[in-house]
Amino acid sequence: MHTTTKALILRGVDYKETDRILTLLTQEQGKLTASARGCRKRGSPLAAGCQLLCWSELVLYDYQGRWSVKEASILREFRGVSADVEKLALACYFAEVAEVLAVEGEPCGELLSLTLNSLHALDKLNKPLALIKAAFELKAMCLAGYEPLLDGCAVCGVEQPENPGFHIREGVLHCARCRDEVGEGISMPLSGEALEGARHIVYGDPKRLFSFRAEGESLEQLGNVAEAYLHAQVERGFHTLDFYKQFQIGR
Ligand SMILES: [Zn+2]
Repeated sequence: MHTTTKALILRGVDYKETDRILTLLTQEQGKLTASARGCRKRGSPLAAGCQLLCWSELVLYDYQGRWSVKEASILREFRGVSADVEKLALACYFAEVAEVLAVEGEPCGELLSLTLNSLHALDKLNKPLALIKAAFELKAMCLAGYEPLLDGCAVCGVEQPENPGFHIREGVLHCARCRDEVGEGISMPLSGEALEGARHIVYGDPKRLFSFRAEGESLEQLGNVAEAYLHAQVERGFHTLDFYKQFQIGR
């Protein structure tokens, strides 16, 4: 049986002499595993289209109950990402998060769009990497069913809380005086520009996901909240994020 699908190559693990096992993100079938037999051979016609973080059109065939790649052609490669090791490290983190959130056999069009848009942003948009990272993380949580409550204080309902904080475990905004009502656990500051940015990401037009301003301390607050919230909800760390953070030391 053959099938043709568009896929983002999330991960590749070398296998045997010249093969590679690929983890793919597809619109209709969610996460897929496929082997690309011989793709590491010199001159293999599969090599280009099976590269990490390529958006490719693949012809797959069923080989002993597993998918195997028969043909691969590149639809889009993110050259500005692969040419910059810091962007590449962040892109690999996006891919790892997408792999964790995607489910085999279940359509994941929005997660795929978010991941592709975030790679495009790294490649072409002249935005701080921290802004792209925060937008990806918060939006990914919304798509995974963990949309945070940011339209007002979760306790008293005031829209523009004084000294607002974000409760990481509960995923809610609160004002300083309502802090105790939210319950135990960590709250992080999310004030002014940072809160506006978070609201833009969660409630705004997904096509304009990265069209907001945040810099300096605001961007730092937004980044801290987005990362802590994602990690609290999925209850795990990410090797690719540890690697990306090596580039942030000393900045
Ligand atoms: Zn309140």
